[in-house]
Amino acid sequence: MPFPALTGAPWRAESVHRLRAEPFDLLIIGGGITGAGIARDAALRGLRTALIERDDFASGTSSRSSRLVHGGVRYLEHGYLHLVFEASRERRILLRIAPHLVHPLRFTWPFYRWARLSGWKIVAGLWLYDLLALFRNVGQHETLSTTGVLNAEPALQCDGLTGGASYWDAATDDARLTVANAIDAATHGAAVLNHAEVTELLIEQGRAVGARAVDRISGDIFDVRARVVVNATGPWTDTVRAMEGATSGTAVRGTKGVHIAVPADRLGNRDAITVISAVDQRVMFVLPGTPHSVIGTTDTPTNDSPEQVRANRTDVQYLLDSANAYFPAAQLTPEDVVSAWAGIRPLIASDTRGAPASASREHAIVTGPAGVIQITGGKLTTYRTMAAQVTDAVQRALGQPRSDCRTAALTLPPVSEEFACTVADVLVRRTKAAFDTRDHGRKEAPSIARRLGELFAWDAARCTRAVADYDAEVDRLFTIDP
Ligand SMILES: Cc1cc2nc3c(=O)[nH]c(=O)nc-3n(C[C@H](O)[C@H](O)[C@H](O)COP(=O)(O)OP(=O)(O)OC[C@H]3O[C@@H](n4cnc5c(N)ncnc54)[C@H](O)[C@@H]3O)c2cc1C
Repeated sequence: MPFPALTGAPWRAESVHRLRAEPFDLLIIGGGITGAGIARDAALRGLRTALIERDDFASGTSSRSSRLVHGGVRYLEHGYLHLVFEASRERRILLRIAPHLVHPLRFTWPFYRWARLSGWKIVAGLWLYDLLALFRNVGQHETLSTTGVLNAEPALQCDGLTGGASYWDAATDDARLTVANAIDAATHGAAVLNHAEVTELLIEQGRAVGARAVDRISGDIFDVRARVVVNATGPWTDTVRAMEGATSGTAVRGTKGVHIAVPADRLGNRDAITVISAVDQRVMFVLPGTPHSVIGTTDTPTNDSPEQVRANRTDVQYLLDSANAYFPAAQLTPEDVVSAWAGIRPLIASDTRGAPASASREHAIVTGPAGVIQITGGKLTTYRTMAAQVTDAVQRALGQPRSDCRTAALTLPPVSEEFACTVADVLVRRTKAAFDTRDHGRKEAPSIARRLGELFAWDAARCTRAVADYDAEVDRLFTIDP
C-alpha cells in the first residue's frame, strides 16, 4: 500500500519551509491530543496556525491512555458531576464525528459481597451516569442477576458475587484520534511538523513572538514567528514554562499509569469489565481486545521524566493480582504479560485534593509572564472542548471577536500512515503492533524501514540505523524495570 501524501521528504521540506517563512497567528507547542485538537479548531476558524511536536504526534501521554472515551464513571464518587456531564457530552460528539475511531463499548460491573462499594450504591451511581448523559448515551445501564453476570462473563469469580450491572462507554485508538486531528488541521491550512523540538522561545519586549526549533531529523535549526504561542506540552509543561521565564512553582503534577496486555483466552473476559481492585480498592478496568485483553491502570505520584517513564515489576504485579482476584482460573503470572507500558497524567499541580485516583481531571488555562497561553490537565475525552476554550483565549489575545467553533459538526478524517517518519511512528502509533506482539513489532521493523527509505531516499546504512533506533525505542517504552 503506498504511503499517503502527508509524509515523506517533500512534505517535510515544505512544512519546514512554511514554518520558517510564514507569519502565524498562533504557534502550538506539543502535538498530543491537546495540541492537535487546538490546531484543528484554530485552522477551522481560519487562523494561521502552526503546530510543532518534538517526537511523533501522540508520542507522549496520548498513546498511553486506557483508550476510552468515557463519561468517567469513577469520578461520580468524588463528586465531579460537572466533569462527568461535560465528558458525557463529548463522548456523544466524538461518537458522531469519528464513528471510524470511537466505538460504543459495553461494560459489565460485577458486585461482590466484600467490595468497597455496595451494589445499590453502584446502581445509584449508574442512574446518575445516565442522567448526566441526559439519557442520550448509546445505551442505558441495566441491573443483572448473579446468573446474568455469569452468562455475560463466565470466567468471573463466583464466590461472593451478588449481582451486577451493565453500562455503556466508548473505546478509541488514542494515537490515531490524535493524528486525525493533526491531519484535519493540515487539511485546513495549518503548518504541522513532528520530530521538531522547540528549544527556546523568541521573546521581544517581554512578549513571546514565536520559538526556535530544531528539526530532529535533519538537525536544522529554524525560527517560527507567531503572534500568540500556546504551550500544550502535557507532562513537559514546566520545561516550556521555564523557557518563558517562569521561575516559581510547577504547573503539572504527574501521576504514572501502567497497563498490561495479556492473552484474552488466558484471562477469559468477553466484554469490558469494571472492577474494584481487591489489592487497594481502586476502580480499574479489564478491556477486551483481539488477541489481547488490557488491564489497567495504576495511578501513582511520580517524578519520573516523561521521556523515561515505564512500568516496573511492582506495577505489573499489582495489575496481575487485581485481575487474578476476579479471574481465579487464569492465575496470570508475569510470563503471561505480552507488553506493559506507562504514561504520565499531566494533572493540574494546584489541585492537590486527595489521592491521585480522586484528583480531578479538570483542565486549567493560564497566561504566562510573556503571554504564552498554557493548558494543563484534562483528558483525552474532553480534548475538543479544551481546544475550543484555548482557541477562544487565542482569539482574545489576538484582539479578534470569537468565531464559531466548528469541531463538533465536522467529521474527522480516517487516519492512515500520515506524518510517519520513523519505524516507531508506524509500529507504535499508526498501528498497535508494538503493544500487541511479544517482540513489540521488531520482526516488522526492517520492512517498515525499507518503505520509509523509499519515501525519504535513505541509503542502506540509514535503513539499518532506522531499525536499530526502533530497537532502542522498544527498550525505552516496553522494558519492565526491576
Ligand atoms: C495511564 C493513563 C490512562 C488514561 N486513560 C484515559 C482514558 O481512557 N480516557 C481519557 O479520556 N483520558 C485518559 N487519560 C488522560 C489522557 O491520556 C491525557 O489527558 C492526554 O493524553 C494528555 O494529552 P496532552 O496532549 O495534554 O499531553 P501529551 O500527549 O503528553 O502531549 C504533549 C506533547 O508535547 C510534546 N512536547 C513536549 N515538549 C516539547 C517541545 N519542547 N517542543 C515540541 N513538542 C514538545 C511531547 O512530545 C508530547 O507529544 C489517561 C492518562 C494516562 C496516563
